[in-house]
Amino acid sequence: MYPSRFHYEAPRSLDDALDLKAAHGDDAKVLAGGQSLVPLLKLRFASPELLVDINNIPALDYHVVDADGTLRVGALCRHADLERSTLLGKHPTMAAAAPMIADPIVRNRGTLVGSWCHADPQGDWASVMLALGAVLVVDGPGGRRQIPASQVVTGPFQNSLRPDEIAIEARIPGASGTAAGSYLKLERRVGDFATVGVAVAVDSSGGTVSRAGIALTGVGPANIEATAAAQALVGKRLDAGTIEQAAALAAEAAQPKTDHRGSAEYKRHIVHTFVTRGLGGNGAVHAAA
Ligand SMILES: Cc1cc2nc3c(=O)[nH]c(=O)nc-3n(C[C@H](O)[C@H](O)[C@H](O)COP(=O)(O)OP(=O)(O)OC[C@H]3O[C@@H](n4cnc5c(N)ncnc54)[C@H](O)[C@@H]3O)c2cc1C
Repeated sequence: MYPSRFHYEAPRSLDDALDLKAAHGDDAKVLAGGQSLVPLLKLRFASPELLVDINNIPALDYHVVDADGTLRVGALCRHADLERSTLLGKHPTMAAAAPMIADPIVRNRGTLVGSWCHADPQGDWASVMLALGAVLVVDGPGGRRQIPASQVVTGPFQNSLRPDEIAIEARIPGASGTAAGSYLKLERRVGDFATVGVAVAVDSSGGTVSRAGIALTGVGPANIEATAAAQALVGKRLDAGTIEQAAALAAEAAQPKTDHRGSAEYKRHIVHTFVTRGLGGNGAVHAAA
């Protein structure tokens, strides 16, 4: 099917893009990697009057680590840029997830920020952002503001951006102490969306967990932050009992549905298994302090 008729603008500055968004609001859609939006247009699930292509705004194409360890990922940073990055040594959950997004073709164009805004319940990055306590920086007529990860996705394919705003950056805090983390994903074949995905991020000092985040993909109407599971780790050492408690709480937080990919019970079991593996080192990637 062909998309509905739309106008197309490719501004060369963020200010011009914001002006277009301010003038057209919900009738204008931002085009980043196009890996989710273009299929939606072709299926006519989306029929915007205007596409605001941000690919000619070089100022959005970056990922950097600040002196305080914060990783900032611009709106044009592609999945492949993160997959090949040499800057993720202290962001192991990011490094683990990047090669698991889709396939190499999609990774060459698709963006982390676009994926987060798209809010597909099976999108991998939103879980990673939740586990890491990231924020999404957005710009608009009201100025720049930061949206905490827990408030970015408001439902399936829904986000909390205002109609006149554009997301410009994902900001991922640096670790306090030693960072460890993993992203484990069950897929029917390589390149597929997650049947179940689990992001785990743990900071520790002297073997004691100072901060933890656990989030789940594909087992609910949106990515799920398993808050109780993560809290069960804080102030503890990662021994078998603590890991089992967190894995059980994460499985309880999942809201899986039985479908052609597996039963709800099976998916819940996978959540338990992935949290156990992610925390136990089998599958986890560790970074130096
Ligand atoms: C075959 C295939 C397999 C895939 N497999 C996976 C997978 O396994 N895991 C996974 O997580 N994803 C997967 N994807 C989706 C892929 O990761 C997309 O790249 C991603 O979902 C959207 O990023 P994008 O940059 O392409 O955004 P676009 O398609 O350009 O935009 C998506 C939506 O977000 C909005 N948007 C984008 N950028 C901004 C911005 N800066 N500010 C405001 N709104 C914005 C757009 O307006 C649109 O509504 C797959 C896609 C395909 C085609």
